[in-house]
Order: sequence, then C-alpha cells, then structure tokens
Amino acid sequence: MKNFYILVGPPGSGKGTQAQKISKKYNLTILSPGALLRDQIKSRTKIGKLAEPFVLAGELVPNEIFLPKLLQILKQSRKSLLLDGFPRTIEQYKILSDFEKENEKCKLFVFEIDVSTRKLQERVGGRWHCHCGEIFHTKYRPSKRAGICDICQQKLFRRSDEKPDILRNRLLIYRKKTSRIIRLFEGEHSDGYFLVNGDKNIDDVNKQFAKIFKKIHGLDKR
Ligand code: AMP
Repeated sequence: MKNFYILVGPPGSGKGTQAQKISKKYNLTILSPGALLRDQIKSRTKIGKLAEPFVLAGELVPNEIFLPKLLQILKQSRKSLLLDGFPRTIEQYKILSDFEKENEKCKLFVFEIDVSTRKLQERVGGRWHCHCGEIFHTKYRPSKRAGICDICQQKLFRRSDEKPDILRNRLLIYRKKTSRIIRLFEGEHSDGYFLVNGDKNIDDVNKQFAKIFKKIHGLDKR
C-alpha cells in the first residue's frame, strides 16, 4: 500500500514535530510544501522568488507556482507519505482524492490536530529558529544563552510569518479554508479520519498517534 497520511492542524499545532517523530517510527517520507517553499526561497530558485511574497504575508501560495513540483515528488515516492501542510484548500484536496480513486493501492487518512487559539499564540509567539534547523522556545525549550543556538552557536531568529499579525492571518485562513477540507473528508472517508488532542505535551500527543497507527494497520489488513 502507498498510503497518504494527511496531518492537518493550525500553525503551532505541532504538526512539524509530530511529522518528524511519526516518519522515523513508521518509515514514511514527509512531504511539506511549507518546508519545500522555504528551501526554494533560500536557494533563490524561480519557484522561490515567485512564492516569497505570499509566504512572507502568511498567504497561501497559488497552486500554479508550486504544485507541479510537489506532485512530481508525490507521484515518484515509492513509500507511503506523511503530508504536512497539504492539502490546504478544497481544490488541493480534490487533487489527492482523484489520485486515490485512480490508484487502488493508495488510501487517504486524515489526522486533525486540534489546539486552542490561546495555546497556539503562546507556542508560536515564543519560537526562535536557528539556520541549522534547531527550534527553541522561550518557555518550553529556552537556549542556554539568550538568542544563541545551543548546538552551533549561531544567532537565533524569528520567522517573519510567525510574528503576531501574520500569525493571525494564517489562523484565519486555516479556519476559513483548511478546516472545511476536514468536514468534506469526514463525509467521504469516515473510517480514515482521526482527531488528536494537540493541547497535550509532545509525548502525549505522540502516544495518541501510536494508538491511531495501530488501528490503521488493523484496517489495512482487512
Ligand atoms: P507551513 O510551514 O506549513 O506553516 O507553511 C508556511 C507557508 O507556506 C504558508 O503560510 C503558505 O504561505 C505556504 N504554504 C504551505 N503549504 C501550502 C499549501 N498547501 N498551499 C499553498 N501555500 C502553502
């Protein structure tokens, strides 16, 4: 089977952290348009240059800019995929749904991580990034020296799309567009939808995923 496990949750829900853990444990490839776009922006590619203003404003990047690249990776992957941040619109969801219909070995699952808005603002508002990829948090994972990475000693920075105004915009888009996909999916695949309580700490959230995967492996064997 080549399953697509779709992780859905607002910015700050811990999608990225859980994706890392789950992909290692279950040998899945992570496909994250957000990470792909940040890489393209950093490397100053054509896609990166076109996408940058949208990413900086916290807006969704138009499909025509990044979708061909994303679909190429999606189709070429031989392993099951963990999708972090895709689909985010009904149109993107339909692309995946059609792919599932055309491939009998492919099945979609959706994991919705639910987190209160207050918790999201606290989590994202306290984040500090390093160019080496490490992420610190003023409250949950402070660096030993303020503003300096514990691992490589480089200066930490805030992601511009994590500043309060932009975060508010991203949350708004999530509530307006992305959460509609979940309701649509639930209607079409009631046995493939799972709700996760993301207010808990990282390990507790991960335990919820372990239970879900146990259940899914049962479904795969039917
Ligand atoms: P993320 O790291 O998933 O929070 O995504 C960061 C940014 O990348 C988003 O605010 C969008 O600008 C862009 N992005 C990520 N996923 C998508 C998507 N599925 N469709 C359009 N834009 C996206």
